[in-house]
Amino acid sequence: MRDHNLTVYNSLTRQKEKFETLHPGFAGMYVCGPTVYNDVHLGNCRTFISFDIIYRYLKFLGYTVRYVRNITDVGHLLDDGEDRMSKGARLDNLEPMEVAQKYTLGFHQVMRLFNTLPPSIEPRATGHIIEQIEMVKKILDNGFAYEANGSVYFDTIKFAKETGEYGKLSGRVIEELLSETRDNLKNQDEKRNPADFAIWMKASDEHIMRWPSPWSIGFPGWHLECSAMSTKYLGEQFDIHGGGNDLKFPHHENEVAQNLGACNVHPARYWLHTNMLLMNGKKMSKSDGNTISPYELLTGNSSHVSKGYSPMVVRFFMLQSHYRSTNDLTDDALQAAEKGYKRLMEAYKSLDSLTSNQTINSELDEKVSSIIQGAWDDMDDDFNTPRAIARLFELVTIINSLKEGQTSLDKISQNSLKELKEAFNIIIFDILGLKVEDGSNDESVDGLMQLIIELRQIARSNKDWPTADKIRDSLNELKIQIKDGKDGSTWTYL
Ligand code: AMP
Ligand code: ZN
Repeated sequence: MRDHNLTVYNSLTRQKEKFETLHPGFAGMYVCGPTVYNDVHLGNCRTFISFDIIYRYLKFLGYTVRYVRNITDVGHLLDDGEDRMSKGARLDNLEPMEVAQKYTLGFHQVMRLFNTLPPSIEPRATGHIIEQIEMVKKILDNGFAYEANGSVYFDTIKFAKETGEYGKLSGRVIEELLSETRDNLKNQDEKRNPADFAIWMKASDEHIMRWPSPWSIGFPGWHLECSAMSTKYLGEQFDIHGGGNDLKFPHHENEVAQNLGACNVHPARYWLHTNMLLMNGKKMSKSDGNTISPYELLTGNSSHVSKGYSPMVVRFFMLQSHYRSTNDLTDDALQAAEKGYKRLMEAYKSLDSLTSNQTINSELDEKVSSIIQGAWDDMDDDFNTPRAIARLFELVTIINSLKEGQTSLDKISQNSLKELKEAFNIIIFDILGLKVEDGSNDESVDGLMQLIIELRQIARSNKDWPTADKIRDSLNELKIQIKDGKDGSTWTYL
């Protein structure tokens, strides 16, 4: 384990706290994953890229991390009470599981493009109905839920009064909940209070997703899956629970209530919440047309961008703001990120050509060490990637002046150059998760691509247009573009 002074901002206590895991050397992290009833959007990507950084950094520090990120494939209700999955299924005329599979695969593909590491476990809500039913039983046994017409509701008011715990995470106060009268109940009059929420729902005749339970044939409430699956894979108490800050209420507040209601312990020690991705200063929203999909952003096929940006430029753009700040996606910001990313990669490539001398502890050596130490301090300070990136650019300036022989300081010593190369590599590739994008860092991919380009050339010279087109189109599907120029063909990632 490396020495560190990691502090994280805990949404539960609203302050930065020293990070100490329940079991030394091990870290358990649960992050609310996507609801797979339509394509993943860039806002989701921002949250998952943020937790990818946290996962990578904890691993770098030497923790054995179990990272659980669920797939919500049942139970996420729309306002009109219709299950999102069933609705997706009806619109696409597919089985709910077909919808879930289609969008789960699409989600994985986007995560791979952004070089996001897969979680250690990716449990699906539909695969954990038994665990959810068991949890409902426990909550009922402990007196914090009641049954009504085959559905089971969490008794929020009783829980709030008896434990004093409801509302701590989201800052809602019990008086607010109590002031919501029964008049607000509308059609949901099975509930005793509007703040009560379903942990088991009786399925109507037309509801497609349904399972038998002691109370009715039905389906679990959305909040329940995360309580049941985090408990199953990480234990009743674990280290980090994460998600976007739009989930704080009601989802996370209700998760805490369910865990306390069933197991009488707070599930997570640290609650980490990412802030929202905006576009041109406004929240991304499909209904306003203020939205762009990952593929539209990568291909440039959208009125919101002047051109396509590569996955690593988008990732770099995301990391240039702290995960707790909003992040505003604009064409100008992406252009700036593209320049910055290229500058960083060029500096990385020129590191190999730098020479050192034997001077020990020169002024420059000390400067390099202190910048690198600063970058580690930034990462220890609640994963402050924008500040760590700013330090990298201080190193880029040093690398460039060494390369051009312009530095007025002593040349760098062998040890310091080694330290510089190591830190640059670790921060850029292992922690920020960036990749060199022109294929030059992956010899086998490059070799394979040269072979495919040659085969396409042969097809073209034989006037075998169907084969040539098939190669080009299949590569396009893999987000790889072949460009034909007068000196032959080259390839790039789209
Ligand atoms: P969902 O599929 O809507 O349940 O969301 C999956 C994850 O993405 C959750 O952690 C959300 O909080 C997060 N999320 C949704 N919209 C945004 C956004 N605009 N910016 C950042 N994160 C978001
Ligand atoms: Zn969740």
